[in-house]
Amino acid sequence: MIKEYPKEDIKVIWDMSKCTHSANCARGLPTVFKPKEKPWIQTENDTRENIIAQVNKCPSGALAIKFT
Ligand code: SF4
Repeated sequence: MIKEYPKEDIKVIWDMSKCTHSANCARGLPTVFKPKEKPWIQTENDTRENIIAQVNKCPSGALAIKFT
């Protein structure tokens, strides 16, 4: 399952089937990536730039950025 979380001119894409639950995202940007909450990605809580930087550190490729 693939989910999308919009932020200004981008969308954070999360592919659940690729996620290895390493929690890198939750450690790196805990205000945005909150595995215990719904929605678990809360793009309103940090800047577009910080979110893009963290998405690019996802080790499995489960997270991606789509420019809209
Ligand atoms: S960093 Fe990527 S692989 Fe790790 S929990 Fe987050 S989305 Fe899943």
